[in-house]
Amino acid sequence: MFLRAKHKLKRGGVLKSSWVFMRSVPGSLLEMVCPACCEVCHQELLAGSDIICSECWAVLREGLLSSACPVCGLPAGPYELIDGVCHRCHNTRPVVSRVIRVGGYEDVLRSLILSFKFRGQSRLDRFWGGMMASAMMGDRLLDDIDILVPVPLHWRRFLTRGYNQSELLVREITRELKRQGILKPVSYDLLRVRNTRPQVSLSASARKGNLKGAFAARPDANFQGKHICLVDDVTTTGTTLKVAGHALKRAGARRISAVVLTVAKD
Ligand SMILES: [Zn+2]
Ligand SMILES: [Zn+2]
Repeated sequence: MFLRAKHKLKRGGVLKSSWVFMRSVPGSLLEMVCPACCEVCHQELLAGSDIICSECWAVLREGLLSSACPVCGLPAGPYELIDGVCHRCHNTRPVVSRVIRVGGYEDVLRSLILSFKFRGQSRLDRFWGGMMASAMMGDRLLDDIDILVPVPLHWRRFLTRGYNQSELLVREITRELKRQGILKPVSYDLLRVRNTRPQVSLSASARKGNLKGAFAARPDANFQGKHICLVDDVTTTGTTLKVAGHALKRAGARRISAVVLTVAKD
């Protein structure tokens, strides 16, 4: 089953439209068998939700409320924080100075992220984009953010996959923020200029070298003096955010933050 992708490259695009294998095949089959059941455990849906049952929501909610280091987003209880940050961040000045995450990397959240990544149902784009917007609105940092920038894919990876998850998320985040009367511009002027191996296939130490020189801002990008919030789905070692953050700093950005669904431990 094929789907005509509507993605267009923003400027000077090679790709006007492409035929891509529909990433939602398993999800579509499931929906035919069970049109309205929990995305995680296939039980009856919670009233008012088209995604999740009451049991899974209870687990997810606990993960949403779990505490994390405000700098790196890794789980950290209140007694593990030194001057408000975890011991890893205490003696460093990371280029990405804040990571807002939706929740901890527990089973229900992981399962819903996998559905979003591999089954690709638009209601999950909306669900996760809405959750990210809520996490941002619950953080005073939002007022200071000037521009949202999705972490880009290299055009070759984009052609193979047909979509960029970060772009799907940023679209839903801005839609939800707008609904709440908050307007934040999005820029697609950060580019992936070098195709790299998937980070998940590499050791932590190999990840940084793999991404060296992978990102660059367009020469005419307007990042000078701006607070930029990168948007990504899951960060593990934070290397992608760091390398993208350095490219934005080189282009004149004043401050870099990030919003992600979750921060996974190695
Ligand atoms: Zn469930
Ligand atoms: Zn930290």
